[in-house]
Amino acid sequence: CNIKSHEFITGSIRVYCRVRPFLPGQESVLTTVDHLEESTITIATPSKYGKEGQKSFTFNKVFGPSASQALIEIFNFQYVEAVFADTQPLIRSVLDGYNVCIFAYGQTGSGKTFTMMGPNELTDESLGVNYRALSDLFHLSKIRNSSQDGINVPEATLVPVSTTSDVIYLMNIGQKNRAVSATAMNDRSSRSHSCLTVHVQGKDLTSGVTLRGSMHLVDLAGSERIDKSEVTGDRLKEAQHINKSLSALGDVIASLSQKNNHIPYRNSKLTQLLQDALGGQAKTLMFIHISPEVEDLGETLSTLKFAERVA
Ligand code: ADP
Ligand code: MG
Repeated sequence: CNIKSHEFITGSIRVYCRVRPFLPGQESVLTTVDHLEESTITIATPSKYGKEGQKSFTFNKVFGPSASQALIEIFNFQYVEAVFADTQPLIRSVLDGYNVCIFAYGQTGSGKTFTMMGPNELTDESLGVNYRALSDLFHLSKIRNSSQDGINVPEATLVPVSTTSDVIYLMNIGQKNRAVSATAMNDRSSRSHSCLTVHVQGKDLTSGVTLRGSMHLVDLAGSERIDKSEVTGDRLKEAQHINKSLSALGDVIASLSQKNNHIPYRNSKLTQLLQDALGGQAKTLMFIHISPEVEDLGETLSTLKFAERVA
């Protein structure tokens, strides 16, 4: 790990940008990504988007298409950069009593679910952040018992768990319950946010103090603007709802990063639900996802601008 837990400061947010590779069969397609550095992404902007040229965005970290989920040794102590390596200190701080929140933001098809869950066909190496975070959490704590108390979300289920596989089982049920409907972009696309929260209560063995931490893992709905001429009725309402909750999330995080006195948590259910995990004693990490294809340039720029505002 090259980032220590103290670098995840409470009340602020870290932003990691991840560019997915081209999908199989698409390799020769033109890319919008001009170049990537450790924490800067430079996008090539054709004249259609104003002045032709380049635009750079700087975040806490940028992962390119070849970054892997886990640390993989390719040759004699040479490693492929691992997306998960930096998140381990964050998971540890859940056990120290912090509220931790990891988000995946981006347009449909940009790789949010890949980061959080992994690809459709999971292997040990391709497991996503959810699995790794949970197994880290269970490995680091030797769990004695888990109990059921307090539930604050209508229609959400609070279930005691004692192993990673208990949680994975529940996660799969959650996935199935999630409203998934096909769009022109991606048939696995989700028109809803998916939020997994794990509450952890422990005792500091030296001081005897009870510590309560929580971990929220959130795979947000696609951030793309919906063309009103293409959807009507319930689908249009749903799309407007998603856009409203994502912009409310952006407003909350932007006010936190500007250290405003008033944080507009109450503007959406999503931000109300995650209030404890945003700001205050919370540590927040947002993965923003970029599709490399030229036809996605508009959404790519809007994702980068969203993140620039909250970074
Ligand atoms: P989203 O959840 O944002 O809609 P997905 O995670 O479903 O997007 O990704 C869309 C497609 O791209 C899937 O087929 C997924 O396996 C693939 N993909 C996404 N990110 C990566 C990556 N980093 N490496 C390889 N394939 C990826
Ligand atoms: Mg998805």
